[in-house]
Parts: sequence; structure tokens; C-alpha cells
Amino acid sequence: MNPYTPKAIWGFNGTERPGAVYLAAALAGHNQKGLPAFSIYGRDVQDSSDTSIPADVKEKLLRFTKAGLAVATMRGKSYLAIGSVSMGIAGSIVDADFFQEYLGMRNEYADMSEIARRVNEGIYDPVEFKKAMAWTKANCKEGKDYNQADKQFSRARKDEIWEYVVKMTLIIRDMMIGNPRLAELGFGEEALGHNAIASGFQGQRQWNDHMPNGDFAEALLNSSFDWNGIRQAFMVATENDCLNGVSMLFGHLLTDTPQVFADVRSYWSPDAIKRVTGKSLSGLAANGMIHLINSGSASLDGSGEMTKNGVPAMKPYWEISEEEAKKCLGATTWYPASQGYFRGGGYSSNFLTKGNMPITLSRLNLVKGVGPVLQLAEGWTAEIPADVHKILDERTDRTWPTTWFVPRVTGKGAFTDVYSVMYNWGANHGAFSFGHIGADLITLASMLRIPVCMHNVPEDKIFRPSSWNAFGMDKEGSDYRACQAYGALYR
Ligand code: MN
Repeated sequence: MNPYTPKAIWGFNGTERPGAVYLAAALAGHNQKGLPAFSIYGRDVQDSSDTSIPADVKEKLLRFTKAGLAVATMRGKSYLAIGSVSMGIAGSIVDADFFQEYLGMRNEYADMSEIARRVNEGIYDPVEFKKAMAWTKANCKEGKDYNQADKQFSRARKDEIWEYVVKMTLIIRDMMIGNPRLAELGFGEEALGHNAIASGFQGQRQWNDHMPNGDFAEALLNSSFDWNGIRQAFMVATENDCLNGVSMLFGHLLTDTPQVFADVRSYWSPDAIKRVTGKSLSGLAANGMIHLINSGSASLDGSGEMTKNGVPAMKPYWEISEEEAKKCLGATTWYPASQGYFRGGGYSSNFLTKGNMPITLSRLNLVKGVGPVLQLAEGWTAEIPADVHKILDERTDRTWPTTWFVPRVTGKGAFTDVYSVMYNWGANHGAFSFGHIGADLITLASMLRIPVCMHNVPEDKIFRPSSWNAFGMDKEGSDYRACQAYGALYR
């Protein structure tokens, strides 16, 4: 009867005992009580002695369980906002009611000056800092400085900035999850951390206009490895876009893989590509593609240098080898940050995502009158000829990580074509996760009573509580009506 526990009932499809009757009766009871429950019922009759779990049942059990675990894992944790609203981006307005009522999370707010305080007062582990600097020097190659000669920092200043950004990485992590070493060093309060399962760093403009930017810290924390070896990725949203941070958190909790945060920057039509490069693309990108690019919070895993069954993949950290982590680092160049954006300097991670990875781009938006809505697009990363990439990339910013994204189109609505996916995206950012996880996101959203406003998941993969059926036969309409009727999970 606890309304906060996600519920599913598996009614065994057998004739000797009435599994279906039990299932229907129990679901009706749950629906009558306002306790949404997922219905699981195998397609084929099994013998009562058959203890195997059929594939269709297995898929539903796993989808329900993974989403249920995500709901339970978020609950009681924090989103740590370091700084406030970046450049007027509405996604970085941290709405405590949303976090509390829909996710069961609390919000912690810290000023960016906390980072400066900890650097200046030496509130970090000096032993780890030394180890981190040595590792960074050995593994993070600095790129060419593309800034105007008179805007470039001296070598001495560049080296100081390297030290600063490594300290920022230690400090943001410590602020999120605490660090027992700090207590040993006499910093008991700082040792506790903010119990953060996700965080965001404002950066622009005030900090980045004056101080080294957060790109190194964000990129590395979001990756599955650092100087301490291979480990679970942290969810750190750049520009403190907490709504994109939530999209990253959803993707991470459902897949255990690191995430890539990006501007949904431009749609390149075949005609526009032809106009600026003189070339036409074939294959996946033949009908256009979307440029995903943002400095900062792209995990280096997003380079696609790791493999699963011989093809590019992003993986849970326990499946990653040392060699694969090295490959991601090898594919990444750390360019002195573009002075046009970052007057305080810093180092931006640059890589080009390998092609043909299945990915799902998602985004949570708050819309007055509706509340939170989730949108998602399954698709693939595209590999395009190097000369075409160079021209398109250098029109944007060559110091940032790039992913060429082609959503799977259906010819209908927001998925009419690649352009319509771009046109219907609800915010400047999106986060992508490895794999086609749209169905998992839809199940998770229904548990949290967040309607899905845009997706390209086949209807037979949509798995929501059975009471959604009582809100009408078209799946999108019933989702909106059910989410409205039940309201936020923790209201
Ligand atoms: Mn951005």
C-alpha cells in the first residue's frame, strides 16, 4: 500500500492455476485504490511445472526493475547547484518543488566562491592532488592554442591553470560526495559532502570571465576513470543546467553508463552541407544530421573508443578495461579554452565521437501549465568524411567535443525527418546515453508521473502501469491524463 514503492504484478499464464485471474483482480484493486501497478502476463501458456521465465516476461521484469531501482536510488539524494543561472538558461533555474515532488530529491545550493575558498585555503587532499597532477601530465595532452596571439596566456600561467583545474575536479567531487581524508586534515564539515547524486556548475559568466573554467573537471568527473582508476561516473551538468542534469541522471541510472551533455547546436540539411562543403553525404547522414557539441560535461567515454562485441560502445564501469580508458584519453585533446567564451582560461576537451553507436538523446523540460515533460529521440552517431567534419566543426568551435547525431525517423509528427526532430527539441541542451533506451525512459517517466511529449519508440515497447489503459486508448493522450490525475509521486 506504500504509494512510493513502484509496483508490478506478474500473473503466470497457466491453465492449472488462475494466474491471469489473480493478476486482473489485484490490478483492479490497485487501480481502485489509486496505486498504479505494472501488469506482466506472458503471451504463451506455460505448464505449472515450468519454472522458466519467457523472454517477453523477462523484458518487462527487467524494464520495471531497472526503472524502479532508479526511482528508489534518486529518492533522498541531492542535486548540488554550484552557482546559479548561467547566461539566463532557464534549465539552470533549480526548481526545488520539482526535485522534491517528482524525484523525492532535495536541493543543495553553494556559491562558486566555495571552490576558490577551498583552493586558497588548501581544503583538498594534497596527496591526491600530487597523484592527480602526475596522472594529468601523463595522460591529458594539451592542444594547440587557437586564441589570438595577444590573448594567449604565458606558459607559466597555463601551467598554473592546469593545477587549478585539477584542484577544481577534486573539490567539486568532494562537495558532491564528501571525502573522509578531509576530516583527517581537520576539515570535518567539508568532509561530509552534500549527498549529491548529481550536480551542476554554473561557470559562465562570472566565474569563467575571471577564473579557469570547469571543462576539465566536468569532462573528467563525467567519465568512468581518473587518477584513481576506473570508477562510476559522476553526473555533473555544465552551465548548472539541472534539467539536463536530471536527463543525465535518468540515463545513468537506467544504463549504468556515463553520459554526454551537449548543446543541440545545429541541424545540417543535405543542401546546407552541400553548400558549405561542396559534398553530399551518403549512408546514415544522407538526410541530414544534428550537431551535438558543448564544452565541459561530455564524458570522454563518449568518444566511442571503447567496444562491446567489437563495435564502439559506452559501458558500465565494471566492464571497462584500463586499455579502453587509455584509448579514450588518447582520443581527447585538451585545448586552451576559447577566449571568446572563457576569458579566465581553462582546458576544453575535444574529441569526435565514433560513428554507428546506438544512442538516445533525452531532455526534461518544465512547462508551465503542464509541469515536467520528457522528450527523447533514439538514433545513431554518424561518421562523416574527415574533410566535411573539419569544415562543419570549425564553423562552430574546434576545441569542443563533437557528436554527429541522426535520429531514427518515422515520417510522422516530430519524427517526420531529421529537421523536425531538431525543430521540436524543447531546450538548448540534451543528454545522450548509449543504446536505445527510450522504452526504459518511458517506463521510468510513468513511475514519476512525468508525461512523455516526444519519442520514437515503437508502441509495442511502451510499458506503463496498467491503469494508464483506463485513461483512453491512444498512448500519448492516456499518459498525459494519467500523469495529471495521479500528480507528482511525492506531492
Ligand atoms: Mn550549452
